[in-house]
Amino acid sequence: MSTIEALLLERGVSLQEVAEIAYQLQLPYNAALTLEQCVESVRAVLSKREVQYALYTGIALDQLAEQGKLPQPLQAIMEKDEPLYGVDETMALGITNVYGMIGLTSFGYLDKMKPGILQKLNEKGKGIHVFLDDLVAGLAAAASARIAHQDEKARQYDLPDPQ
Ligand code: MG
Repeated sequence: MSTIEALLLERGVSLQEVAEIAYQLQLPYNAALTLEQCVESVRAVLSKREVQYALYTGIALDQLAEQGKLPQPLQAIMEKDEPLYGVDETMALGITNVYGMIGLTSFGYLDKMKPGILQKLNEKGKGIHVFLDDLVAGLAAAASARIAHQDEKARQYDLPDPQ
């Protein structure tokens, strides 16, 4: 298991749960899609350094907030999960941007609907996941967008492989 995968698990998020969201996003466009393909796609997105850096940064801030170690007013903002804070969503865009506009629109959808593990992360009494919920939504949206790009390439264009 990779370091980043172990860290996600420690914070209550399995790759399988992220893959399930990517699967739900992409299934309407690809009836032959499997959950295994989605797990593979999540792994591919996670292998990118900028994605790992965003996760390390966001998770560290969540952990410091849980320990009460952030300076004010940031500590209070994180404890309240202040809706107007917005830096968590901005950081997640660093993940979705890797796969273009389709990643961005899927992220917006997930941010509103909060399916599966995203709902679980937002439950009270489960620690502070101000950053993690958005980063996981960004990860799922990117994994889904990556599959969409691959499918599109297979259908019609002679374009380089998305990584
Ligand atoms: Mg958040």
